Amino acid sequence: MPSDLRRLVVEQLKSGEHARMWVETDLDANLNYATGLLAVTESRVIGIRVETTASSQPVIESWLLSVVGQVSAKEHGAIGTFELRTAAGTTSIWRYTVGKAVIVHKLVQQIEKLKLAEGDVDEADDTEEAELEPDAPLPPMTKSFARLLRFTKPHTQMMFLGFVLTLLSSFFATVSMPLLGEVLDHVLTPFAKETTLKTPPGGDPTVIRVIDDAVQIAASRAHAIELAKWYLLAFTGAVVMSWLIGWARTFVLAWISERVAADLRNQTYAHLQRLSLEFFGGKRTGDLISRIDTDTDRICYFIAVHLTDFASDFVMLFLIGAYVVWKDSWLGIVTLLPLPIIGWLVHAVRARLRTGFMAGSRAWAEMTNVLADTIPGIRVVKAFAQEQREIDRFQVRNAHVFKTNNHINKLWSAFSPLLVLMSDISLLLIWVVGIWRVLDHKLTVGVLTASVLLINRFYGRLEALSRIVEPTQRAANSTHRIFEILDRVPNIADPPHPIRPGRVSGAVEFREVQFRYGTRPILRGVDLQIRSGEMIGLVGPSGAGKTTLINLVCRFHDVSEGAVLIDGHDVRQLALEDYRRNIGIVLQEPFLFYGTIAENIAYGRPEATREQIVSAAKAARAHEFILRQPDGYDSFVGERGMSLSGGERQRISIARALLIDPAILILDEATSAVDTETEREIQLALENLTRGRTTIAIAHRLSTLRRADRLVVLEHGRITEVGRHDELLERSGTYARLHKAQLDMAHGNVTEVTT
Ligand code: ADP
Ligand code: MG
Repeated sequence: MPSDLRRLVVEQLKSGEHARMWVETDLDANLNYATGLLAVTESRVIGIRVETTASSQPVIESWLLSVVGQVSAKEHGAIGTFELRTAAGTTSIWRYTVGKAVIVHKLVQQIEKLKLAEGDVDEADDTEEAELEPDAPLPPMTKSFARLLRFTKPHTQMMFLGFVLTLLSSFFATVSMPLLGEVLDHVLTPFAKETTLKTPPGGDPTVIRVIDDAVQIAASRAHAIELAKWYLLAFTGAVVMSWLIGWARTFVLAWISERVAADLRNQTYAHLQRLSLEFFGGKRTGDLISRIDTDTDRICYFIAVHLTDFASDFVMLFLIGAYVVWKDSWLGIVTLLPLPIIGWLVHAVRARLRTGFMAGSRAWAEMTNVLADTIPGIRVVKAFAQEQREIDRFQVRNAHVFKTNNHINKLWSAFSPLLVLMSDISLLLIWVVGIWRVLDHKLTVGVLTASVLLINRFYGRLEALSRIVEPTQRAANSTHRIFEILDRVPNIADPPHPIRPGRVSGAVEFREVQFRYGTRPILRGVDLQIRSGEMIGLVGPSGAGKTTLINLVCRFHDVSEGAVLIDGHDVRQLALEDYRRNIGIVLQEPFLFYGTIAENIAYGRPEATREQIVSAAKAARAHEFILRQPDGYDSFVGERGMSLSGGERQRISIARALLIDPAILILDEATSAVDTETEREIQLALENLTRGRTTIAIAHRLSTLRRADRLVVLEHGRITEVGRHDELLERSGTYARLHKAQLDMAHGNVTEVTT
C-alpha cells in the first residue's frame, strides 16, 4: 500500500523535482489506523490521505513551500499530530502513532530547512534521506571489500604464501598443454614427414628398399618414442605439481578465510555486546543472529572458494593469453576478442543482481525473524492456538524468499547459456584463423592444437569465472550488513578518562533529571537524593517512568538533561563495567541461561565457590526447592527455565543478585508475577537481600514496600509525593488512593481502579 502511495507522489512530481523525504502516517482524523503519506520536495509539501471508507480515492494535497507558513509536530500520549499552517491561515492536520514521532520531527526540520534554502538546494540533505529510506543505496562494493581486506592484515604472510601457491599451481596447470603441442611439433610431425618421404610417391617400393627403410623407420620410431617419453614425463610432472600445489593452495586459502570469518564473528559479537539496549530495542533477534552466522559464513565461503578460484583463473587467463599472443599475434587477437564483450555483459547483469541480492537477504532475514519470534514465544503461540497462523506467516515469508531468489535465477539462467554460446562462437573463430595461419606456414599444428586445448579449457572456466558476480554481490552485501553493526558507535560508553569507582557506598542522587525517548518526554525533571543504605519504594501508575528511572541508575540509558550522581560522581564519568559490578538487579521476568542452577546463580561471579552459591541460595529461600530438583544444584534448566515455576526462577535470580553482594540493589516488580504464598517467600528472601544496601524497589503491591524508608510516588515523569507509608496515607494523595484501592481489592470490593 505505502508503495502505491509513493507512486502517486512520484506521478505528481514535475521534471527536476525529487522527493527529499517521505513519511508514512498511520492514523486518520478519527484516529483509526489508515495509511497516509507526507512527502517534501525541493519546492512543495505533498500529502496523501486514504480515508477508511472503502470506496473513496486517496486525496492528494500539495502546498508550495512559499505558501507554507508554519509546520509543527506534537505528541500527546500515544498520538502525534502534524500540523501545516499556510501563510493564508488554513490548517491541515495529519495524525500518527508515537512510533513515527522521530521521523515526523525530522520531516518538520527538513521542511523548515528547505523553506530557508528555497531555490538553492543543498546536497548535504541527501544523507538524511539515506538514513530514512528503507532502500538506502549501498556503499560501493569495492569500499566494503577494502574494509574486509583489513581483516586479512594479521595474516599477511599466509596471504602471500597463498598468492605464490596460486601463481605456481596455475602455471603448472597451464604449461602441460604447450608440452602436448611440443610433442606434436617436435616428435610426431617430424616422424610423419621422415617416414612418408621414404615411400616413393605412386611407385611400388622394391623389396630391398623396404627393408632398408624399415631399418631407418624403426630407428626414427625409437627416437620418437624416446623423445615422446620425456615430454610425457614432463607433462605428468606438471600435472602432478599442479595437483599438489593446488592442494596446498586450497588449504592455505581455506585457513585464511576461516580465520578471517572467525575474527569477524568475534569482533562483531564483541561489538554487539557493547551496544546499548536502545540498539537492541530497535532490532530483531533473527536479523542480528543471521548477521553473525550466515553473513560471516558467506564471506568465508566467498574468500575460500570464489575469490581463490577467481584469482587462479585470472592468472591462468593471463598465462594463456601471453602464450597465444607470443606464438601468434593473430590467434592472440581472436582469443582475447570476446573478453571485453563478456566483461560488459557481467557488468550489465551485476547492477540488477545486486538489488536482487539485497532484496533476497532482506527476505531471508524476515524469514529468520519469524523463527526468532515464535520459537521463544512458542508457549504463547500454543496457548492461543495460533500454530496455523504462524505456519502461514512463515510460509508467506518463505514464499517471498522463493520469489526473490527466483527472480535472481531468472537473470542467471539467461546469462550462463549466453556465455556458453559466446565461447562456442569464439572457438569457431579461433579454428578459422588457426587453419588459415597453419596453411600460410605461420603457425605449426602443435601450437594450434595447444592453443585450442588451452582456450577450450579456459572458456570452460570462463562461465565459472563470470559466476563470481553472484557470490561477490552476496559477499558484498553480507560485508555491508556486518559493517552496519561494527559502525554503530556504542552510545553508552566509557569516557576518555573514567573514574574507577571500585566499591561504591551507594548514595544516589537524581539532579533535575529529564529523559526522552526520541522526542517523547518520559521523565520531566526528577530530583531525589537517596542516602547510602536507604531503601526507597518507587510507586506510581504503569507507564509513569519507574523502569526508565532505574534504567538511568544502571546506565542502560543516559539522561537527556540533568544528571544521575553516584557518591557525588556523575555516572557518565564512571568506568562502566566497574560501576555495574556494584549493581544487583532483579527483574519481573527473570532470565535463566541454559545451564545448571549453580551456573545461573554464579552468573555475575563465576569464580564463586559452591559454599557461597549455597549460602546465596539459602538467603534467597531457594535452597530447599533446589535440593528437590533431580540433580540439586547441578540440575539443568532450559533456556527460559521452563522446568521451574515463576517464583522458583525469581528466587534463583534473587540468589544471583545476592551472590555479587551489590552496593545498590534494584528490584523492578520482582514479586508482581507470583502468587501471594510465593511472594511471602520472596519477601523474606528480599529482606536478606536489602539489608545494608541502597535499594530501589518498584512494586505493584504496595504491601511489599512497607519496609521502605521512604516511598516515592512517580506520576507522568514527575515525583509527586515522598514520605513514609503512614505520612503518605495521612496526606490522602495518590498513594493513599492506590492503597485504598488495593485494600478494597483484597477485601473483595472490586471497584474500578484508575491509576
Ligand atoms: P513504568 O513506570 O511502568 O515502569 P516505563 O518507565 O517502563 O514505565 O515507561 C515509561 C514510558 O516510556 C511508557 O509510556 C513507555 O511506553 C515508554 N517507553 C518505555 N520504553 C521505551 C522505549 N524503548 N522506546 C520508547 N518508549 C518507551
Ligand atoms: Mg516498569
